[in-house]
Amino acid sequence: MSDPSPAVDPHAADATPAADVRLPVPSSADADAEIRYVDSCELPTPWATFRLHGFIDPASGKEHVALTLGDLDDGEPVLARVHSECLTGDAFFSQRCDCGAQLEEALRRIATEGRGIVLYLRQEGRGIGLINKIRAYHLQDAGADTVQANEDLGFAADQRHYGLCQPMLAHFGVGALRLMTNNPAKVVALQKLGVQVPERISILVGHNPSNQRYLATKREKLGHVIGLPAE
Ligand SMILES: [Zn+2]
Repeated sequence: MSDPSPAVDPHAADATPAADVRLPVPSSADADAEIRYVDSCELPTPWATFRLHGFIDPASGKEHVALTLGDLDDGEPVLARVHSECLTGDAFFSQRCDCGAQLEEALRRIATEGRGIVLYLRQEGRGIGLINKIRAYHLQDAGADTVQANEDLGFAADQRHYGLCQPMLAHFGVGALRLMTNNPAKVVALQKLGVQVPERISILVGHNPSNQRYLATKREKLGHVIGLPAE
């Protein structure tokens, strides 16, 4: 169900995740991450014509993008989503997760405000890559949950890093975010990297029968703040 009015929890940024929640702690490499800006263009979407900006991470060679709308460098916190690539959800309409719906809702809300930014980071499958994500989905088809599957393949539950966000945001003169996420650990990770997050805005969309267990696992094992129909 789509909630047209963002549910704002002003205390969420200060919330301490439960002890068993695995935080994507910034690595030492994150602290001095560099990013190279390349070029930008117009990107018309059903909701607004955004500006699409291309970056390259010199350390990995990976290409990342930012979608922006409006004036961002006036010092006011910017409505934002930090979205990690999910090809299956973002492009193939997968119902196994809620990523595509969250990305669409974020773009829609930014268009409504006329101002905001989406950082689209190319770290597929919580950082394990597309092919390993398919292997993890195969394990989930046989009964594993999303965290067990990644760990059975020898990965951490969440291998994402957010070190590139700070230099990408700095490129646009953005230092503070009103962040659209259900993941308090992402707020903590960004704050540790020097990005201010004065507000976390829930983005509860894309729930369906196929991803109920996935969302329950994200809530119970990864600390996401998600209200489920069973509650
Ligand atoms: Zn996804």
